[in-house]
Amino acid sequence: MIIKPKVRGFICTNAHPVGCAKNVEEQIAFIKSQSFPQGNGKPKNVLIVGSSTGYGLASRITAAYGYGANTLGVFFEKPPTEKRTASAGFYNAAAFDARAKADGMYSESFNGDAFSNECKQQVIEKIKTDMGQVDLVIYSLASPRRTDPNTGETFNSTLKPIGKSYTAKNLNTDTQKISDITIEAANDEEIANTIKVMGGEDWEMWLDALSAAGVLAEGCKTSAYTYIGDQLTKPIYGDATIGKAKEDLDTSAEILTAKLSALGGEARVSVLKAVVTQASSAIPVMPLYLSILFKEMKSEGTHEGCIEQLARLYAECLYVDKPRLDDVGRFRVDELELRRGLQEKIEKIWQEVTEENLHDLTDFKAYQAEFLRLFGFGISDVDYDADVDTLIEADFFAVTTD
Ligand code: NAD
Repeated sequence: MIIKPKVRGFICTNAHPVGCAKNVEEQIAFIKSQSFPQGNGKPKNVLIVGSSTGYGLASRITAAYGYGANTLGVFFEKPPTEKRTASAGFYNAAAFDARAKADGMYSESFNGDAFSNECKQQVIEKIKTDMGQVDLVIYSLASPRRTDPNTGETFNSTLKPIGKSYTAKNLNTDTQKISDITIEAANDEEIANTIKVMGGEDWEMWLDALSAAGVLAEGCKTSAYTYIGDQLTKPIYGDATIGKAKEDLDTSAEILTAKLSALGGEARVSVLKAVVTQASSAIPVMPLYLSILFKEMKSEGTHEGCIEQLARLYAECLYVDKPRLDDVGRFRVDELELRRGLQEKIEKIWQEVTEENLHDLTDFKAYQAEFLRLFGFGISDVDYDADVDTLIEADFFAVTTD
């Protein structure tokens, strides 16, 4: 099959297996080029929930190639068929798995619904058989919906402001038109549902299940990821429905730390910077904000993507004597994005940007390129006119239900 990107709005409905594999290779090469001091412990057996794309994939690569850790990944991705390519995450995970195994590392993966009880139980059985215990659990799920495994009820998350509607500049990434959009305020049910999907309940359920099965090692750490942002993104992120769900993670971190204290372990929320991922491209305001952010951080020499952020999260927070913590005990690696001087510049550009000066005042081209890279497109040394085998095989475990 010859594969060209099929982009519809903020979604690309296909993926390029060779490009995705190259993307994974580049992240591995970056991690291998960094040093990871190991004086303050290191991850040995790591479970990553949401390990196929974005921050979860970078978490897995850093654990494996920064510290030589065994990794067990969980994700929900579409395998290829005769007619359709797999989802990007499937190809990423297959590429990681093949490379890690070729390099003599332990790498196994479950493809199924991480919110289900069956997934948790089957992962636990695998840990018991292969690893014994895990010492790091990364929780990096981003999902628009969740079925509560105990009631069978499905909840949808929303991206809406709270209290009052919000009008802001928005960039249509297909047409490159900038126009105001108004997003109505969420009602109480929408807020509660977003917390149900993206809050800490499932993170706690994972840790409770792992703990009950006795598969958490002494000193086990766990982290879930959040974004906080500043003035421009607060109305649609930090102070909005998703922000409420993320606040719930802080409560879960406290509860989990109390539970893990018997093992000398801890749970912390990690605050990461804004990057282009499948999850963030769906958030209104974000594409324009990221296009400005990229231009400014690149010109400062501080631009980072998922893998650079994760390298710093491990080396400067997770496995270091004095981690960078905020006043509520979260790990912080978003400090370069949030510097006031930088945010002021971005706020000024935000006021000035129009369709006419989009390419002068922002790096929309870099945003678009990063977006396409998520699906394996636009990567150097990949021949996109070549006929490629899309039916990549991977020995992922499917989550089985009775
Ligand atoms: P992403 O869309 O790239 O990755 C989501 C992952 O979750 C994928 O591996 C996917 O397969 C998995 N997943 C989704 N539903 C699942 C299910 N039901 N069962 C199993 N796996 C499932 O997202 P991302 O942007 O890397 O987000 C990961 C975390 O990082 C989220 O908590 C997000 O809020 C946070 N974060 C993101 C940004 C950003 O700018 N993208 C910034 C800070 C924090």
